[in-house]
Amino acid sequence: MSIHICTSNIDFRCPYCEKEYSDTYEKYLNRINKNKLGITTMKCDCGKRFGIACDYAGLVSFKLATKEELKKPVNLDIRKGKE
Ligand SMILES: [Zn+2]
Repeated sequence: MSIHICTSNIDFRCPYCEKEYSDTYEKYLNRINKNKLGITTMKCDCGKRFGIACDYAGLVSFKLATKEELKKPVNLDIRKGKE
């Protein structure tokens, strides 16, 4: 089972400036589902780029240290439930 179910919470915040976003059109969710690592990124109005992943509770955002982090699986607790 590797199906993402992220319908319970579509809101997430920029981890840098706390600006709130809502994935109303499932744009980011679709991008996450297409990414084999299960993450996507976006650039906030504050100019910082951050990552978005999803867990059982919905979308979560996290800081990206380097571009290299996008090339390897993210080592986050939230990914425990994914095979
Ligand atoms: Zn921001």
